[in-house]
Amino acid sequence: MSEVKSIAVIGAGTMGSGITMTAAISGLEAWQIDVSQDQLDRARGYHQKNLARNVAKERMTQEQADQAAARIHYVTSMSEAASADWAVEAATENVELKKRIFADMVSAFGPEVVLASNTSSISITEIASSVGDAADRVIGMHFFNPVPVMKLVEVINGLATSKETTARTMALAESMGKTPIAANDRAGFVSNRVLMPMINEAFHAWMEGVAEPEAIDGIMKLGCNFPMGPLRLADFIGLDVCHHIMMVLYDELGDQKYFPCPKLRQLVTAGRLGNKSGMGVYDYSAD
Ligand code: NAD
Repeated sequence: MSEVKSIAVIGAGTMGSGITMTAAISGLEAWQIDVSQDQLDRARGYHQKNLARNVAKERMTQEQADQAAARIHYVTSMSEAASADWAVEAATENVELKKRIFADMVSAFGPEVVLASNTSSISITEIASSVGDAADRVIGMHFFNPVPVMKLVEVINGLATSKETTARTMALAESMGKTPIAANDRAGFVSNRVLMPMINEAFHAWMEGVAEPEAIDGIMKLGCNFPMGPLRLADFIGLDVCHHIMMVLYDELGDQKYFPCPKLRQLVTAGRLGNKSGMGVYDYSAD
């Protein structure tokens, strides 16, 4: 199997732009793909800012930053990235959309290209059902936000994922400076199976008046040595995203304990989605 020298990243949002940044810094040629030109422009702006910050902090030279920037190509269709050695999808979290994108990925890229998804909750086996014989090349490659900073890549094997695909994915993640850890394909994988019920429980504690958000977060931060408390983290992730993942866990695992807390549901209904909407558990309107 030839060495991976280039990558196509489908989706230029929060995660896709971070994956592209990390890939380009690690020396890969990268195609940043999105259906939205606005999102591509935003991703380019983020890449420029991120590289400038790396230079200012003396993590790289200006020449290295320029070379990394020159390795990224911003395109609106997969066909423009057809020669990529690797493909990772980081588009909107919607199962039908992802299945359509994967069906297109099979025909857009070569027969040895691994088809990875950055999904945080959708079954890899279900995504792979859209690609026929290529299901052995479909795998979950779950990066964490912010991608350039976070070390973990949770690698998720679908039912048909080949051992070779897993080994190649672990190797690529390492070459991008990440620590890959493999798990099998159950709702929420490991990270969200453990994290989301904890966040949900924090909402229950708040709703029942056990403590106010600042106290809940302060206790979990200092008591568990977390960098931030669960409610603050929920705002950072997006309350709608947390709600969506809880529903995936509830639907697939069928246990009442995964049902989203009414307090979480209420904030989402009110449009209080966290940092991105300026208000969630906490108020960010002054930021
Ligand atoms: P986002 O909304 O910021 O970006 C999604 C992007 O996908 C948008 O730019 C949209 O234009 C693009 N898109 C939609 N349809 C497309 C298509 N057909 N072809 C190409 N691009 C298309 O979302 P995000 O937060 O970056 O999440 C992306 C994926 O990563 C999701 O599966 C999400 O569950 C997962 N994820 C998110 C986080 C997080 O903290 N945000 C963490 C880990 C994993």
